[in-house]
Amino acid sequence: MKRILARKTPNKIGKEVRLLGWVNSVRDHGKISFIDLRDRTGIVQCVGQKLGEISSEYVVEIIGKVAKRPEKLVNPNIPTGEVEVQIKSVKIISKASELPLPIGTDGLEIEESVRSKYRYLDLRRPRMAKNIRLRSQTVSFIRDWLTKRSFVEIETPILTKTTPEGARDFLVPSRLQKGKFYALPQSPQQYKQLLMVAGFERYFQIARCFRDEDSRADRAYGEFTQIDIEMSFVEQEDILVLTEKMFTELVKEVFPNKKISQSPWPRISHKEAMSKYKTDKPDLRKDKSDKDELAFSWVVDFPLFTAQSSGDYFHGSGSAKLAPSHHMFTAPHPDDVAKLLEDPASVRGLQHDLVLNGFEVGGGSIRIHDPEIQSKIFKLIGFSENQKKDFDHLLKAFEYGVPPHGGIAPGLDRLLMALLGESSLREVMAFPTQASGATSVLDAPSKPSQEQLKELGIKVSS
Ligand code: ASP
Repeated sequence: MKRILARKTPNKIGKEVRLLGWVNSVRDHGKISFIDLRDRTGIVQCVGQKLGEISSEYVVEIIGKVAKRPEKLVNPNIPTGEVEVQIKSVKIISKASELPLPIGTDGLEIEESVRSKYRYLDLRRPRMAKNIRLRSQTVSFIRDWLTKRSFVEIETPILTKTTPEGARDFLVPSRLQKGKFYALPQSPQQYKQLLMVAGFERYFQIARCFRDEDSRADRAYGEFTQIDIEMSFVEQEDILVLTEKMFTELVKEVFPNKKISQSPWPRISHKEAMSKYKTDKPDLRKDKSDKDELAFSWVVDFPLFTAQSSGDYFHGSGSAKLAPSHHMFTAPHPDDVAKLLEDPASVRGLQHDLVLNGFEVGGGSIRIHDPEIQSKIFKLIGFSENQKKDFDHLLKAFEYGVPPHGGIAPGLDRLLMALLGESSLREVMAFPTQASGATSVLDAPSKPSQEQLKELGIKVSS
């Protein structure tokens, strides 16, 4: 007999059906017992006699007849609440031990390490299952939306060379070239610019990015996902308009209960944001207790440079005191280019940050496509000749016909966290890494074998 999903049972009144799923709960009322059966579509109540030994979270097959419930027993809280399945047979497909953590609650009360160790169970809780499904719908909406507008989805390498985005790299040792290392990408920044030289004009990627930075609630340790976008022959305005339209339609379609409080989204200069709100990611919600309000805004006109600090990972050296505010490929404002050498601190960059409810959910810029300006920037941030060589490939590529280009990279995790009103990025990721750096379930990092190290030519000193 063909399987029927729980959600479809109200369409099958009077029919015999076969259900497959998990026992959400069992209630034994002496003569009769109730099983709430759960599958990917929800829950349906099943009722029968002498069901044998059945416990929560067993995987079972139930064959029975769908019947309308008497009026006073209808459960308005679930979509299948008007019916129940009168059990003819229950078959245990697999048993379940008692779960090491409750899954009926929202889970926020449970210790992180326990949720992480048993993440596959943690994901059974309705809140997490819903978040992960909404994540999938979000990605699918964006993929569709961009593809329809002639964007090409292109994967870029994970084993790559360090890109100077301001964080510490993850390194991967090379076996074939002992003593050399790949870096995992902090973002596909240089590749997406190279794709513009290649002539694709409109690129996107749901890109995994890796940064070895300490985690905070709004910053994941290790890896996160960006909706990485780049376009040729555009101005900053085009990028802002496209992003605004895409997310406005996303909210309408995937998060219909959410209300965007102001459209078009306010645009605030960095200077104004700092003087008026004392932050470059202001929370512009009118009512901060309203969980359905979405206050998007753009922050623009950032200074191109900030003061360099010892913790900077873009590796500037020498006597330079400046670091890029965004990254070193961001173009200076055309009105300020003349001031680059004599008064660099006053130069504005063509950077744009996307802010939602007080979180920076994306950043991007118009890029430098003039090798001379790029060299000036390298100089101002104190790059040595050797460091400049690391970017020869990009400057070389720019010698062969480079279109003006720019883009943005909204962070998928942070966007979802803000959209869903979650308190941590881990609540919107299936298998997040904990703050300690330990991964979910599989508990990496782990020690490699001596053979593996030998093959890589590596000796571990501590
Ligand atoms: N690669 C940049 C970042 O990760 C985003 C961009 O400039 O498009 O912040």
